[in-house]
Amino acid sequence: MNLISFFETAVSALNNSKSAELGDRSKYIGSSDVGACARKVYLQKRHPDAIPPDFCTMMKFSRGHVAETLIENIFDAAGVEHLYDTQVEVKHPEYPLKAHVDFLFYADFDGTPQLHVIEVKSVNGIPDEPYPQWIDQLTFQLGLLRIKYPKGKLGGSILAIDLNAGAVHQFNGFRHNKSLFNYLQNRALHLLDCLADKAEAEPSTSHLCSYCSYRSDCPAMTLPKVELPVEIETDVPF
Ligand code: SF4
Repeated sequence: MNLISFFETAVSALNNSKSAELGDRSKYIGSSDVGACARKVYLQKRHPDAIPPDFCTMMKFSRGHVAETLIENIFDAAGVEHLYDTQVEVKHPEYPLKAHVDFLFYADFDGTPQLHVIEVKSVNGIPDEPYPQWIDQLTFQLGLLRIKYPKGKLGGSILAIDLNAGAVHQFNGFRHNKSLFNYLQNRALHLLDCLADKAEAEPSTSHLCSYCSYRSDCPAMTLPKVELPVEIETDVPF
């Protein structure tokens, strides 16, 4: 029994099925796109199959899914499964902008009604502060939820989980930020213009460049290769 060659096919199938749950990503801007490099978003959506992820990358994506499943199992073991839904899709009422919320709680653990978003991040080492892309993603999710639910308590957390270290950290206390959401919404509309070839999809460098499939011919790539630090393994589109 050759498990490795079997895995290479099976892990690809697993990632394809997880990707399919998000729908046709070329047709909308998602919450993980709004803070990302415009060139990368453009190329991912225009040519999604041009550069398939390698086995190692797909395994890292899978670790993100494992982290989400573990958190769900923990919630359910604690008997709070009636308080939340997973992978909740929230759409903008006017534009093709969407978010898929990892966990959406409808009440606190004591039953107090409120909406609380939990965005799960699988990491190698808990960072001191949440990454800006994480905050952009959560802010976009909260903004879309505020449009859908104009009233009531609404907040969010980023739950960073390091499976190797057995460590979990909650970055808590996020609220709807109207000005930042408006900025992100405008950025999302700019990305739509890029996809419609009405605007140029400019590259913007970050530590994520070392993880980028479109790095080899990127005009902005003068950076030395850097190690990918704590990462957004559940969110990198493939
Ligand atoms: S290498 Fe960096 S700047 Fe270039 S497309 Fe990728 S993410 Fe953008």
